Amino acid sequence: MTNIAFFDTKPYDKVWFDHFSGEYQAEITYFESKLTHKTAPLAQGYEVVCAFVNDTIDEQVIEDLYQGGVRLLAMRCAGYNNIDFKAAFGKIHIVRVPAYSPYAVAEHAMALLLSLVRQTHHSYVRTREFNFSLNGLVGFDLHGKTIGVVGTGKIGRVFIDICKGFGMRVLAYDPYPNKSVPVDYCSFEELCSESDIISLHCPLTEESFHLINRESIAKMKEGVVLINTSRGALVDSQALLEGIRSKRIGGAALDVYEEEAELFYEDRSSTILDDDILMLLISMPNVLVTSHQAFLTKEALQNIALTTLKSVESYEKGDVMEHEICYQCDTCHNVTGQRCF
Ligand code: NAD
Repeated sequence: MTNIAFFDTKPYDKVWFDHFSGEYQAEITYFESKLTHKTAPLAQGYEVVCAFVNDTIDEQVIEDLYQGGVRLLAMRCAGYNNIDFKAAFGKIHIVRVPAYSPYAVAEHAMALLLSLVRQTHHSYVRTREFNFSLNGLVGFDLHGKTIGVVGTGKIGRVFIDICKGFGMRVLAYDPYPNKSVPVDYCSFEELCSESDIISLHCPLTEESFHLINRESIAKMKEGVVLINTSRGALVDSQALLEGIRSKRIGGAALDVYEEEAELFYEDRSSTILDDDILMLLISMPNVLVTSHQAFLTKEALQNIALTTLKSVESYEKGDVMEHEICYQCDTCHNVTGQRCF
């Protein structure tokens, strides 16, 4: 049996991990708390820790986990911008789930876009109060509009297919264009100036931090709609707010927010939020915020549990782990057939 300390547990996480844990000989201890400097000691005596997108996995946490006996960190997500890889290298192996359902995220991006441009979120509230007026609900057709997709990896590609199904003209920017993706690649500047809608599907890196900022917003079309289902810090939130106020940005749908770590995934309805920018954004009629839920489908949760437990099994057997990531080679390709350390 492998003992796994599982942080930031929600009821929906447990369903599939409990379902498969017996088959993979895993004994899981679920902690509701996030992995932080304070909670890292809970993992003492466990060889494997399972963590998520908003857990703190900096140098100090890595060292505390390592001293406590942890040797594998299994991230049950695709993005890994919250990990100090340099600190982990040589001490703790890290695996992730690179693809659990690109459809889940791409479909959520389209759901947000459709809600926003057809104002379904307003209609829902109105009809619940028997207000059947249509005043103020005029939307626009997606058909024939130009959409700029930033990042043409697994999710971006599915999203491009969906947009083509709607009869949209699709432009794409990716510093590593992929010839097999049937899309017109262009520069980021062109994408900004030509798109009616911009949807972000790239990872958060040093290069992509605040990709959407005052300068790029100034190049966008008047009334552009921005969709972010990737990572909050791709967008400078203050610049976004200014763009919405100046009407340069006609609508924004955000599944992620740069300061979400202390806010999202919990019920904060009876507290006064400290975050003025988020409160202002949420109060805008043309802003739609969901709480980092794009991944949340039963298919995705099932794949996340299976892939994570398979990685843990490979680690226990001493095999190469297909989804290992490390400081030395970023996404390990395991070409040598050996572990990186
Ligand atoms: P992927 O690795 O398959 O594709 C990412 C693409 O982005 C690659 O083609 C890469 O070349 C490109 N890219 C890298 N840097 C870029 C830049 N500066 N500008 C433009 N493109 C750039 O990843 P994926 O599976 O498609 O996921 C994309 C992102 O979606 C993840 O990094 C993650 O942050 C986010 N995500 C969000 C959720 C959610 O629930 N909201 C769930 C899963 C993933």
